Amino acid sequence: MKIYNTLSRKVEEFKSLEKGKVGIYICGPTVYDYSHIGHARTYVNSDVLIRVLKWLDYDVKTVMNITDVGHLTDDADEGEDKMEKKARVEKKSAKEIAEFYTKDFWQMIKMMNINKPDVVCKATEYIKEMIELIKRLEEKGLVYKTSDGMYFDTSKLKNYGELARLDIEGLKEGARVEKKLEKKNPTDFALWKLSSKDEKRQMEWDSPWGVGFPGWHIECSAMSMKHLGDSFDIHTGGIEHIPVHHTNEIAQSEGATGEQFVKYWFHSNHLMVEGKKMSKSLKNFLRVEEIKKKGFDCLSLRYLFLTGHYRTKMNFTWKGLEAAEEGYRKLKSIVSEWGGIKTRTNLSEEKLQKLQGVSLKFREAVENDLNMPQALAVVWEMVKSNIPEYDKWELIEDWDRVLGLNLGQVANNKQQITNEVEELKKKREELRKEKKWEEADEIKKQVEEKGFKMEDTAAGTVVKIK
Ligand SMILES: [Zn+2]
Repeated sequence: MKIYNTLSRKVEEFKSLEKGKVGIYICGPTVYDYSHIGHARTYVNSDVLIRVLKWLDYDVKTVMNITDVGHLTDDADEGEDKMEKKARVEKKSAKEIAEFYTKDFWQMIKMMNINKPDVVCKATEYIKEMIELIKRLEEKGLVYKTSDGMYFDTSKLKNYGELARLDIEGLKEGARVEKKLEKKNPTDFALWKLSSKDEKRQMEWDSPWGVGFPGWHIECSAMSMKHLGDSFDIHTGGIEHIPVHHTNEIAQSEGATGEQFVKYWFHSNHLMVEGKKMSKSLKNFLRVEEIKKKGFDCLSLRYLFLTGHYRTKMNFTWKGLEAAEEGYRKLKSIVSEWGGIKTRTNLSEEKLQKLQGVSLKFREAVENDLNMPQALAVVWEMVKSNIPEYDKWELIEDWDRVLGLNLGQVANNKQQITNEVEELKKKREELRKEKKWEEADEIKKQVEEKGFKMEDTAAGTVVKIK
């Protein structure tokens, strides 16, 4: 498989550190607010990556953080802890805030049919590991103290900023004008922040340097290395994390171990909404929940995301979502027709070649830096071909392990659902005859929940796939 590596800025042949095994760290959410569709896109992209690796028979271990402390409102180690700030605004405890928005996050993950990671780690449960890591950095002479905490001295690392291609000299020039606190270098960052004497924090811990809390970056370094080892294969996240968060994760981890931290950096590009960047001031943070409330299938949004390459900026529009829903429903409805076919027919030479051709094309598309738009085009080519339906069904079941559009399930459940729906339809007709309208309506609802539509026509009730 070929994959783009932000570290080299090149599409590279993927070679795991250990044969047949892949360790992936997924940069998780800071749980102080609702997840929006931009997050949904980022996590769908990493989900597709993980699905492809599993499809290619790698034994994949996935780890994700839940940041519930230490992420400040300002990237330059100033400002407030996002969790504590939200707790104050909502008049709740930081723990309640974390629980509430973590739940919202997992709901979004489920609605988008994203597989849950094998290991999920909450930052507040790994304080000991973070302190240990800072101690290791201290022993290596990479840490200095200021009046508000312990800082990483980025000038001590030769390749600091390599991931982001940071212009260190330029930044120094800029900082001379700006004059920053007590930092030795403008790129230095906090490993441990001391609690302020004027304000009582909800979340703080004892440490060799005083009572305080960890920096955001140290969380990811400590938790990823704990579960995946000092060096691992892939680290994912949004491109906005390249210049600061991921750059600093590399500095801390490689500073402590002297080994390469991550072999491949996988970054997902931004999602715009109707041509604009999502921002607090524009109030255009759209949630998956809202899309569902408008009557869309959440997997139509997933389908829409698959029509764009993960490294390309994407623009969400309602029109685009409508078109995606139409495409997705059509695909589902065609696939559902194949479910009941149980016998394989012998393939003619021509059809066999066609089948092998589309199989190869699909594999080539996903192995080519996850070219999902191309993979979807192959899906449609296969759907429209004269390959027998039994074979089409087998292909779609297999490919859906990558797509995650529940297509295999649609085909598999078809027979069972059709029988159930038939039963319900009969029952409803009887109820209608007896003028039990409410109960009849209840049945209609049940049928609709199974993904069907009921229409009462002059000729009787017609059931269609939604
Ligand atoms: Zn992270």
